[in-house]
Amino acid sequence: MKGFLYWPQTGHPDILPPKARRMPGRPKKNRRREQGEPGAGVKLGKKGVRMRCSRCLMYGHNKSTCGTSEEECSERQRLAAEEKKAQSEAARAQAVERKKKTTTQKKKQNRESGQGANEGQQPKRKRGRPAKAVNVQVLPPPPPLPPPGVGVYVYKDGTIQMSSQPVEGTSGSNKTAMKK
Ligand SMILES: [Zn+2]
Repeated sequence: MKGFLYWPQTGHPDILPPKARRMPGRPKKNRRREQGEPGAGVKLGKKGVRMRCSRCLMYGHNKSTCGTSEEECSERQRLAAEEKKAQSEAARAQAVERKKKTTTQKKKQNRESGQGANEGQQPKRKRGRPAKAVNVQVLPPPPPLPPPGVGVYVYKDGTIQMSSQPVEGTSGSNKTAMKK
């Protein structure tokens, strides 16, 4: 046979897949990685990163091949520290400036919409069990199911008629037919 398209039809229902089984052992906790994703513990490479000496903070060589004199190294480190300090201070100033702006904007928005800080919020719901609903309409129980092979006609006024033959010429669109 070439394939399932050419298999003979039996007329039986399709075979169901096997039941899901609980496998032995503790279930895996790690995320399942994508196809081609490097596994855990694979670091990014240092390729293309500019080497910088940690002793004299100059680019192009590292600590082990540093040929700079002791005095120059300390001088350079002092300069670098100063530069770093200035940079962080500038960043902090920028952050403060940004914060100011956003807060003033918020205030402005509140003023424009005429709402205070607490206004516009949803009213707080009372804690605990919600109050019992009083006027609950109890629906009537559904009508009993008819024996198989019998047509059922339910009319809008609630009457039910069962018959093996469809009733014709009665209330028209008012009737809902449920054929079994
Ligand atoms: Zn160096």
